[in-house]
Amino acid sequence: MNIGAKPNIFNEEKFRGENKVTNDFKAVNHEVIPPDLYQKLPKVELHAHLNGSVSPPTLERLIAKKPHLNIEHSMTVISKGQSRTLEECFEMFKVIHQLTNTEEDIFEVTKDVIKEFAADGVKYLELRSTPREEKSTGLTKKRYVETVIEAIKQSKEENADIEVRFLLAIDRRHGPAVAMDTVKMAEDFSLSSNGIVVGLDLSGDPMAGHSKDFIPALQRAKNVGLKLALHLAEVPSQKEETELLLTLPPDRIGHGTFLHPEVGGSQELVDYVRKNCIPLELCMTSNVKGQTVASYDKHHFLYWYNLQHPCILCTDDKGVFATELSTEYELAATTFSLNLADIWSLSTQAIDYSFAPSSVKCDLRHQWLKLKTEMTSTLRF
Ligand SMILES: [Zn+2]
Repeated sequence: MNIGAKPNIFNEEKFRGENKVTNDFKAVNHEVIPPDLYQKLPKVELHAHLNGSVSPPTLERLIAKKPHLNIEHSMTVISKGQSRTLEECFEMFKVIHQLTNTEEDIFEVTKDVIKEFAADGVKYLELRSTPREEKSTGLTKKRYVETVIEAIKQSKEENADIEVRFLLAIDRRHGPAVAMDTVKMAEDFSLSSNGIVVGLDLSGDPMAGHSKDFIPALQRAKNVGLKLALHLAEVPSQKEETELLLTLPPDRIGHGTFLHPEVGGSQELVDYVRKNCIPLELCMTSNVKGQTVASYDKHHFLYWYNLQHPCILCTDDKGVFATELSTEYELAATTFSLNLADIWSLSTQAIDYSFAPSSVKCDLRHQWLKLKTEMTSTLRF
């Protein structure tokens, strides 16, 4: 298998699928991996939008609280086997925003989302969300961010087994002036949130606006030491935009679906990303259900993984796309014939690509080592 150094605590031969990582998936052998392993595997989630991560039970509670909105559950989730266009996905987010339009809602969904990631074996989580104001309820952008931070702090006080950080998101549809305000807000909160706010995300409809309009705000963010996770090359034919955003360069790339030449990107883009060693946040279920990737076996994970480029498996919107991070690991393993050592390696390397301070990364690495020993004895290798 085309990957670098692997941990040798796992018996690689026993868990190795018979195929090399190729596009031929006919004889993949995975029955040796216990089904609950993916949930038990300690994981790092680095690409999770708060509102898109709200789970069906939480949404049902919110729908019951707001019957006047006449929202049905099918308007907020894409079930197994279904898909939607990217435009339809953005419409679904608008529906969810109607359900989360008070401080109380934001607090409740943040706590639930954190609890759910923790239950799925996620030990470190970076949530991202666009500060939102709702005139009808008096919610301001500042209170929105404060409320998310309060929920993160309370989860920690309640001993949730998970470290959480927060990225403020710049929604492309709102234009450069709002982007600059968001950066200033992130600057303030990075100082006052006790390290919870660590950076910014650029997201929203990839067809809205032009990346050049956001460069000054993003550059300012970089200059003051905030980290940047940018949705990039999410749709085809945006080479010029992508080139421009890469010059910053971002600290991580969200999706990067159309970077490589086989899908209309270019070798220059690939070389640049590799030279700067910019990790990719890859969300398989989101891309297939959102119809930017035709099928799981065509996912660009394979391209980058075979280049030994930093790849991080993420959920994007676990609520909307009806997935979990453990499901994404299982999907990658079964689709690309990864063995247990490969999976472990993916989850461990994600620690390095997080925006956590080195002390937190160090703690996480210790946790991983401890859990590996425990899992090894449980699995009876
Ligand atoms: Zn995203």
